[in-house]
Amino acid sequence: MPRTAFVTDATHVAHFSPGHPERPERLEAIVAHLEERGLRARMTDLPPREATDDELLAVHSAAHLATVERAAARGASLDPDTYTRPESLGIARRSAGALLVAVEAVLRGEVANTFVATRPPGHHATPERAMGFCLFNNVAIAAKAALAAGVERVAIMDWDVHHGNGTQDVFIDDARVLYVSTHASPFYPGSGDIVEVGTGAARGTNVNIPLPHSTGDAGFLAAWERVGIPALERHRPDLVLVSSGWDAHARDPLGTLNVTTDAYTRVAAVVLDAARRFCDGRVVVALEGGYDTHALAWCASGLVELLLGETPAPDPEPAPVASGSPLDALIDEVRTAVGL
Ligand code: ZN
Repeated sequence: MPRTAFVTDATHVAHFSPGHPERPERLEAIVAHLEERGLRARMTDLPPREATDDELLAVHSAAHLATVERAAARGASLDPDTYTRPESLGIARRSAGALLVAVEAVLRGEVANTFVATRPPGHHATPERAMGFCLFNNVAIAAKAALAAGVERVAIMDWDVHHGNGTQDVFIDDARVLYVSTHASPFYPGSGDIVEVGTGAARGTNVNIPLPHSTGDAGFLAAWERVGIPALERHRPDLVLVSSGWDAHARDPLGTLNVTTDAYTRVAAVVLDAARRFCDGRVVVALEGGYDTHALAWCASGLVELLLGETPAPDPEPAPVASGSPLDALIDEVRTAVGL
């Protein structure tokens, strides 16, 4: 079995807005770096497809879909942060559909794991609303499709610097889906408090680890090792999805958490190790945010080397940042809130 698949969509370049940070160069930097380092050639390329109306409507309202269709037809913005162009509807459908292709390949056992590098990102899109550069919630749509295909439990691990409010909204009352997020706080979009733990039978399956600005590597690593991984072990998922934003990186112009490429890679390693123990390594990693092209390129190549079962080459230009503290009191508070 080929070990790792790669799904991208070259048409993404037509989704842009001059001066906007969510720009084609982000994804171009990742793809070029994976090609330069010989990593793309070692993955199985899978073509994306467009998510169907039914697949989108498993997460979003018909009114939301109609709003995105109307806005894109005119090239209008959906909120001050979230632009569209006429090409954006098809590109956003393929950004979601790329994840569906990835999940289908992993569930059928055709590949062990997959990296999905597409845009626009998805984790801020709620059932009713596009926001934060996101039109459709790609990861939530993929999780719903996996559940519909018979998967009993899914885990979504979100290490973007922003809270994935849309993903939380979709699964806040669904005990089948574990959502774990590290994010800067207070920060956009304002959600992601420790007390947002899930409702009813889903209590404890929504895990927010709001980190103070300038957290650094020690706190970021501790959050995943002491909260994210134990939560994943308790959930025993059949499939792990990762909302992989690399905007917590110290070089990122929007993020504030001062995380290095090395720490991002170490967190990816512990998540993949846990996935090997609980679900035969069935992991689909999807690009979310990240706005520095060097950080995107090296975090992506480190991730891909781990997916291929290899030791990542270090970032040749590591960001000079303080490692910070392991945030014991904060992490103990989160563990208590979610019953770990
Ligand atoms: Zn982000």
